[in-house]
Amino acid sequence: MPRKLFSGPDDRRIKRALCIVAHPDDIEFFCAGTVVMLADRGVHVAFVLATSGDKGSHDPGVDSAQLAQMREREQEAAARALGAERVEFLRRRDAELTDTLEFRGELVGCIRRQMPDVLLTFDPLPGYRQHPDHRVVGRVALDAAWPCARDRLTYPEQGPPHETAEAWCFAGPASNLEVDVSAVLDRKIEARLAHESQTRSPAALRRRWRSAARIERFHQVDLR
Ligand SMILES: [Zn+2]
Repeated sequence: MPRKLFSGPDDRRIKRALCIVAHPDDIEFFCAGTVVMLADRGVHVAFVLATSGDKGSHDPGVDSAQLAQMREREQEAAARALGAERVEFLRRRDAELTDTLEFRGELVGCIRRQMPDVLLTFDPLPGYRQHPDHRVVGRVALDAAWPCARDRLTYPEQGPPHETAEAWCFAGPASNLEVDVSAVLDRKIEARLAHESQTRSPAALRRRWRSAARIERFHQVDLR
């Protein structure tokens, strides 16, 4: 009989979760409410950021190195607000992510160390407007989780194998799992506002997100 898919963040079988994204603030945009719901019931949640967002500023007075440092601090503050226990920065160059075996190996190592039951990442499907880093990180993270992290002879230097039960992919064209995060919406918004360098008007963002950020949508993929 096929395994019954997780019902959502309340599913008691989920003990560990890993979010792999491209930039600081990606998690807050796409899955922060789900992270809070997981962390609040004791699930160990970790974040991996492939880049530190070193291109994400229109301010001519700030260079890439300063920006990356600032954005890492902002992401750490957001992670604390959400209840995540660990944030890892891979410090690849923003807007230049590519699908390489070396990047895949690095993510295999992250997955084997964190041992998630569920991987939250971008839906890599092409054909709609999406930051190129989002497509790449989603694709490489999924390839890393299945089959590479699972198979002992693949990237043996990255630690013992680990089987991830599911991927929940966000920002894609279709979804089969909807999570109502209304109960934790204020914390999601506060975490988003921790990204001060990316926020022009906190009041306007609060207003917009109170009406538009209550449902998080995922394409739930069985990896077993
Ligand atoms: Zn992004």
